[in-house]
This record gives sequence, C-alpha cells and structure tokens, in this order.
Amino acid sequence: MRIKKGDTVLIISGKDRGRKGKVIEAFPKQGRLVIEGINLRKKHMKPKKSGEKGQIVETPAPLNASDIKLICSKCGKAVRTGYKLKGKKKYRICKKCKQAL
Ligand SMILES: [Zn+2]
Repeated sequence: MRIKKGDTVLIISGKDRGRKGKVIEAFPKQGRLVIEGINLRKKHMKPKKSGEKGQIVETPAPLNASDIKLICSKCGKAVRTGYKLKGKKKYRICKKCKQAL
C-alpha cells in the first residue's frame, strides 16, 4: 500500500467522493485506511452507569485503498506514486512533480 498514516488523500468513490482528509489509521494488510471525518458511521454507545443516557457517536469507518488517491504535499494534486531507489533507501515519489514524498 502506498498510502500511510498522516497523508492527505482525496476520496474518489463512494458517498464522500471528492472530499479530502487526513489518514489517521492505516491497515496495510487489509489495504484499508481510516480518514479523518470521512465515511462516518454512527455508533451507539451504551450507558456505562445506570441512569446515564446512551450516546450516539460518529466514528470514521475504514475505506479501501482503491477508493483513495494521495494528494501530493509538493504540487497539491491528486497523484499516483512511484518508488525510487537512492542507495539502499527506497523513496516514494510523486509521478507528477517527481518530488520525494
Ligand atoms: Zn507532486
């Protein structure tokens, strides 16, 4: 997966298509990402003590990495990324502006 925690991304499908957000959690094995404020699901919280009211909180549900495009922090466009080797280190690069991300 080429997107990691902390990246800014663009949603390209689903009900939040066209919106941007920051990746707050990444699950590389499943190829899924949680993006701040995107794909919100209502969760019912049960009251902890008797007499307390249950609450409904909205939490972002994970999205498939295929529904997301990285926004390049250098050129500000939704881009595809590639990799470049420099010595033994691998760099992620923006395919548009060729800058390391
Ligand atoms: Zn770029």
